[in-house]
Amino acid sequence: MNNQDQSLIFEISTPGRIGFSLPEMDVEAVSIEDILPAEYIREEAAELPEVSELDIMRHYTALSHRNHGVDSGFYPLGSCTMKYNPKINENVARINGFAHIHPYQDEAVVQGALELMYDLQEHLIEITGMDQVTLQPAAGAHGEWTGLMMIRAFHEANGDSARTKVIVPDSAHGTNPASATVAGFETVTVKSNEYGLVDLEDLKRVVGPDTAALMLTNPNTLGLFEENILEMAEIIHSAGGKLYYDGANLNAVLSKARPGDMGFDVVHLNLHKTFTGPHGGGGPGSGPVGVKSELIRFLPKPLVAEKDGTFFLDYDRPESIGRVKPYYGNFGINVRAYTYIRSMGPDGLKAVTENAVINANYMMRRLAPFYDLPFDRHCKHEFVLSGKRQKKLGVRTLDIAKRLLDFGYHPPTIYFPLNVEECMMIEPTETESKETLDAFIEAMIQIAKEAEETPEIVQEAPHTTVIKRLDETLAARKPVLRYQA
Ligand SMILES: *Cc1c(COP(=O)(O)O)cnc(C)c1O
Repeated sequence: MNNQDQSLIFEISTPGRIGFSLPEMDVEAVSIEDILPAEYIREEAAELPEVSELDIMRHYTALSHRNHGVDSGFYPLGSCTMKYNPKINENVARINGFAHIHPYQDEAVVQGALELMYDLQEHLIEITGMDQVTLQPAAGAHGEWTGLMMIRAFHEANGDSARTKVIVPDSAHGTNPASATVAGFETVTVKSNEYGLVDLEDLKRVVGPDTAALMLTNPNTLGLFEENILEMAEIIHSAGGKLYYDGANLNAVLSKARPGDMGFDVVHLNLHKTFTGPHGGGGPGSGPVGVKSELIRFLPKPLVAEKDGTFFLDYDRPESIGRVKPYYGNFGINVRAYTYIRSMGPDGLKAVTENAVINANYMMRRLAPFYDLPFDRHCKHEFVLSGKRQKKLGVRTLDIAKRLLDFGYHPPTIYFPLNVEECMMIEPTETESKETLDAFIEAMIQIAKEAEETPEIVQEAPHTTVIKRLDETLAARKPVLRYQA
């Protein structure tokens, strides 16, 4: 790194320096006063850095090197499936006919794009075991809300307006209770048992004539497969409720088991996780929702449909819950997911699952002597450890996460799920080599040793990053938005 890498863009600003060159204007100049009402015009010029094109290039390149990303290093963020995003996906998404079409183009001239969407729907129907799929929702949480709105519409269509409650296990992803609340339901929590699975007795206790649905992740956020899923489906269905599958992370069951076959009525997928859409930083996502036949009529409109070899947007859906997103979903992410599914093929997708599960179990077993393993069972695509032992030595899980930064790793998800003390939730994904897994394991083992021998090294970490330990609350509540001279 040179000196400039450490500077703020404002510090390298030189008055009068510009980073662009425009041709001489060949139209009449228009003054800002002619375009904007006076109250919207600033009195003083904005304080902007003045730098050359090369300066700005180096500035952003330097910043990008300070970031963690899947392309720069191992990223074991549990429940986020930070796997490699194959670059062929990007090439395909950039094909002119995909990248530069407009949502208002005539259907006759975008048949290829519509066919891709239709085909993707068909693939997702096959993968999930559902009867129909919408590609509209823009993220996982958006898919949850869309699915719950359909469940709501279903109950209302049956005159069943007393179903006001959605049951959510205590190990559920935080978006589940949030989506249920936004969809107008009351959330009821069901406990996990000592094996980390939904407690069936507790489920029987909370289910009733007011149950609209059970929202479930399987494998759950502890990385464990809900073995009693058929019995749970029976409990919910016989009470008149619907079964919702949070399929954000399908890595553990892809091509092996299908939510539709387990008895689920609605499922959402995160194409930006399992199906290699790039994510993180709040970029566009895609959260398609699949439903069983009795819910098809409530799907958002339009739905991509086909008749006699012609593809079209079907708006003729009188019972639809309506549109949930402008236009037709995040098309670019859907193109990437489609490319991934087609380039992997059925055998490739099966191998994804097998390797994701093997990698997670390998890592879990190798780390188990050094950290507490709250649920000593085979895991699926991810697992949780507890930093309880280290906490007794004065080293918290937050410290362990910070120390990992010194080794160049993005930390795992920490303090989630909430039902495990000092939780670390690790998801290696299938795209990492054994050497990468081993190097991370060695780092974790060294940190466990440091916690015993030199705890202050861990407590004061990170030592090698540009910014040292942050006050997390202050950093979130009062971010530095602007450089102050
Ligand atoms: C990521 C995730 C979600 C939310 O997905 P977003 O696209 O971030 O809205 C929901 N459930 C689970 C289990 C997840 O891992």
